[in-house]
Amino acid sequence: MLMRMSSLFVRTLREDPAEAEVPSHKLLVRAGYVRRFAPGGYAWLPLGQRVLDRVAAVVREEMAAIGAQEVSFPSLLPQENYETSGRLSAFGDDVFRLRDRRGAGYVLGPTHEELFTLLVRDLYGSYRDYPVTLYQIGTKFRDEARPRGGLLRGREFLMKDAYSFDLDDEGLRRSYQAQRDAYIRIFNRLGLDYTIVAAMSGSMGGSVSEEFLAPAPVGEDTFVGCTACDYAANTEAVTTPAPAVNGELTHPAAEVIDTPGTPTIASLVEYANSVGAGGRTDWTAADTLKNVVLRVGDSILVVGVPGDREVDLKRVSAALHPATVEMFDDFAAQPDLVRGYIGPQVLAKLGIRYLVDPRVVPGTAWLTGANEADRHAVNVVCGRDFVPDGTIEAADVREGDACPACGDGSLTLRRGIEIGHIFQLGRRFADAFGLDALGPDGQPVRITMGSYGVGVSRVVAAIAEQHHDERGLAWPESVAPAFAHVVATGKGEQGETAERLASELTARGIDVLLDDRPGLSAGVRFADAELLGMPVVVVVGRRLADGYVEVRSRIDGSRTDVPVDDVVELID
Ligand code: ATP
Ligand code: MG
Ligand code: MG
Ligand code: MG
Repeated sequence: MLMRMSSLFVRTLREDPAEAEVPSHKLLVRAGYVRRFAPGGYAWLPLGQRVLDRVAAVVREEMAAIGAQEVSFPSLLPQENYETSGRLSAFGDDVFRLRDRRGAGYVLGPTHEELFTLLVRDLYGSYRDYPVTLYQIGTKFRDEARPRGGLLRGREFLMKDAYSFDLDDEGLRRSYQAQRDAYIRIFNRLGLDYTIVAAMSGSMGGSVSEEFLAPAPVGEDTFVGCTACDYAANTEAVTTPAPAVNGELTHPAAEVIDTPGTPTIASLVEYANSVGAGGRTDWTAADTLKNVVLRVGDSILVVGVPGDREVDLKRVSAALHPATVEMFDDFAAQPDLVRGYIGPQVLAKLGIRYLVDPRVVPGTAWLTGANEADRHAVNVVCGRDFVPDGTIEAADVREGDACPACGDGSLTLRRGIEIGHIFQLGRRFADAFGLDALGPDGQPVRITMGSYGVGVSRVVAAIAEQHHDERGLAWPESVAPAFAHVVATGKGEQGETAERLASELTARGIDVLLDDRPGLSAGVRFADAELLGMPVVVVVGRRLADGYVEVRSRIDGSRTDVPVDDVVELID
């Protein structure tokens, strides 16, 4: 492929765009890769489109390699599916909603778990059909509170979203692992530096969740890494060592109230507001209830043990206070897991003594009304002190803190860009939509799911964040719009040689950008080559008289004089 700058739809800018704050945004606009048309809405120009397409192509290849099949869904979707899953309220103001001419409610899809669940339910019936993994690369819409950083946080952005469907937990683990391995290959191929961190699963729900974070000063996520082992976690999800539970309890006052089964907690936000106790909406009950509940004295302790147990909060609360049963039933209209917050005031009003370990709900730990003896027992069980009626900020990790995984190393803090996020969703969506397979014994088997996202458009910006200098972009070979940028500094023989080299390189399958624009100084051409960021720049200049051209590496800055007859061979 040969792109001629004389006709390519690109204009480079000398000035940074006024609204741009981060390097990738400034450079992608200045280099003519993208243009802003709305808050968080960007047009892709030919060079940008090529980078985007190349990123998507890598994603497609690695999805195909693990047997994931590509489909494509609409973005304009009936609102009711997101009501059924409970996520309309979970997403809150992040969802763009609209009505059609008949008044029916629609959303612009923020993510597609609901639709993929419905699709598989419609077409698959037998256990023999499973497992299956489907994906799409499509536009997502989120009414982000603060669209920023150009492509980093759009309100309209390109995502690869994959969904796995399995018959059992072991199958889900395998599907998750396959996606995780594919992500490692994808991000390696894209030339990204990244860390895989333990994550909170957000509005998705589910138990196991990891993020791929690309370290960059402009990243909006903060994560910790250990100096001694490979522990890494988003500060939202930092865990302290699990206490001795699951049968290893030694304290006589502690008794495990084990409540396996499907959690049915409804939103307590409304409840909190209705009793005038206030409430928060910044965590998801679904995330936090995969734990073991202990009764210690007459207090209840929810301990954040990583694992597959789920707490039926209704049963737990009912064991303490019958009034809570009504409270849960009031919200039966919202049957699934919804964002909520069990305010200490609510529990106090109901006379419930309730302890929440900060490992369960970061930022919240409280001890409502428990007496000294209980508190002591709790501390024994947890192996640490609670701050009575206080708040422990789990996100408030300092450098230097001891590593919760190995205990030997200390934690270091870094900022990163979330480029991918993978979840073991479990049966949450299958429960909401009744997705079963008919098992070999004729009994229905509830399907278990995973979901796996890559921010394809964000990745373009993340690559730019990690591969640039003050003069411009410096694309890794795998995503560059062209491999070689051929620049002639003069007309005549230099121009003709540049043409010839460009066509010889192209004939060998190398993508070339040829600066054949008339009437520009060498300085302008060099500055543009550095701004545009092709990995190799071939300068056909004065030294051509001696039979040489100069080959510049945009990656390491090296400059080498090469005999003109050798240059094609050298680059190929
Ligand atoms: P963030 O924490 O940055 O808001 P998220 O956790 O809400 O992201 P997910 O729901 O996990 O995002 O979506 C999967 C992937 O989609 C993310 O890992 C990210 O790469 C990408 N993504 C999410 N929101 C945006 C956005 N507003 N603009 C561009 N890419 C996004
Ligand atoms: Mg988000
Ligand atoms: Mg996130
Ligand atoms: Mg995420």
